[in-house]
Amino acid sequence: MSEQAVAEAQDLGKVYGQGDATVVALAGVSARFPRGEFTAIMGPSGSGKSTFTHCLAGLDQPTTGTARIGGVDLGSLDDEELTRVRREKVGFVFQSFNLLPTLSAWENIVLPLSLSGREPDQDWADQVVDAMGLGDRLEHRPAQLSGGQQQRVACARALITRPEIVVADEPTGNLDSRSGARLLALLQRCAREWRQTVLMVTHDPIAAGYADRVLFLADGGLVDQMRQPTPGGVLDRMRRFEPQEVR
Ligand code: ADP
Ligand code: MG
Repeated sequence: MSEQAVAEAQDLGKVYGQGDATVVALAGVSARFPRGEFTAIMGPSGSGKSTFTHCLAGLDQPTTGTARIGGVDLGSLDDEELTRVRREKVGFVFQSFNLLPTLSAWENIVLPLSLSGREPDQDWADQVVDAMGLGDRLEHRPAQLSGGQQQRVACARALITRPEIVVADEPTGNLDSRSGARLLALLQRCAREWRQTVLMVTHDPIAAGYADRVLFLADGGLVDQMRQPTPGGVLDRMRRFEPQEVR
């Protein structure tokens, strides 16, 4: 029997609105995400990348199909159970960092633990802070940090609970290329060294090159995938899916 996937989408669908205003954001996507695999999700703007990852990670509810984490159907959970699964099993990194401005970097990092009344595991916290290169920035407020540093704080916050799954939605979208490269190397390390399952939405072929696999979405459907992606290979594939420009 194959190893149970850490996360699994089965025919996941999402429809927004009603009547004339109906938007099919996700048209039935199935995919498995094994332990320690780094997957990039790509596709044109509006193709359903965020909807897919949010439904899979329990941030949003699908209209049809099933999202499973650790074999548990998220649709079978009540709000409290769902919150617990999200808090304990998933770490989120967003494009806009989402740090609390009045808290120090350290307080932001341990917030997921504080919220559930837990103390950080000091060894792990040291490892995470060290990996993110934040050792001398822990007392700073977000406004006193560069964008790259803020995103590394957000990443440390996502990792502090040692989640099985790390979900990053365009995490390098607001970073310069050097900070972006550093963050991508960290996400890769999450998968390779710490065996976390990493899902990253991106439109950047270079970012996708850090992943083990790329899933391509178009119009809410899974249209292709690629293993051991290279930036050049990804770019080629994207050109085939983007609508051709009329000259
Ligand atoms: P992507 O992340 O690939 O850019 P999204 O998953 O954000 O795409 O969106 C997929 C589709 O669903 C788009 O057409 C978008 O406009 C629509 N959509 C997303 N969120 C909502 C919402 N809250 N209400 C209505 N339509 C939405
Ligand atoms: Mg999006």
